[in-house]
Amino acid sequence: MLVPRTHSYQAYAKVKGTAVINPIEEKVRCAYDSEASGFIIRHEHSLHELPPCIKVLRSQLELLIIDNNYNLRALPGFLGDFLFLRVLDASYCRIKNVDPRLGCLRRLEHLNLANNQLEYLSFEASRLKSLKKLNVENNNMKVLPGGLLFLQHLKELTLENNPFYDPVEIEGTPDVTLSPCLSSIECVNCCIPTQNYRTFISFHRLCQHVELPFVFHTCSDTCQAQVRDRLDRYNAAQRERREHQ
Ligand SMILES: [Zn+2]
Repeated sequence: MLVPRTHSYQAYAKVKGTAVINPIEEKVRCAYDSEASGFIIRHEHSLHELPPCIKVLRSQLELLIIDNNYNLRALPGFLGDFLFLRVLDASYCRIKNVDPRLGCLRRLEHLNLANNQLEYLSFEASRLKSLKKLNVENNNMKVLPGGLLFLQHLKELTLENNPFYDPVEIEGTPDVTLSPCLSSIECVNCCIPTQNYRTFISFHRLCQHVELPFVFHTCSDTCQAQVRDRLDRYNAAQRERREHQ
């Protein structure tokens, strides 16, 4: 259910001390005043970052389409406040970084980040509990976040044309040197945020894909052991499913 409002965008902008000055802000104003559940910014070649004025739509948007903005380089943390978002399409941009706060989008069902310059999805993927479809094809990713393995509803994963690690290629190389360097993580087991973390990479099946590399960040040796146990159970369940097919 969306949060009811009593103020128009003009009243909101006045409170915030901002004025409507460009076409995107004008579109935001229209979307806000009409309580639109969808919003599109497309083919805006001068757009380097998402304008903060979009924040006013955080309690109403279920669909945000920002594809084909060829100079857009990041998905900002404030998108993590769009708690009703079900569809986010930021494909065909130049995105290198995704803010960890995107992990807060618990209603997100469809995330399309295809055709960008992503090296890693730096949010705790296990928190995207509603995710059904993820498209990250044509990026620069070598590993995937391990939390993806624990999403019950994920059924469609598109990831062609990424330079993913091959198990033979990385044999003997310490996992820590192969993992993305993050200043802090959220433990995939207990969800505690920490800067002092353990890392390991392991290969698993997911959706129609075989032997994909996943990286796991945990806060302690105990959590790491519990994740490894959980992965053993995951592999056993996958094997059982194949045997019954
Ligand atoms: Zn932990």
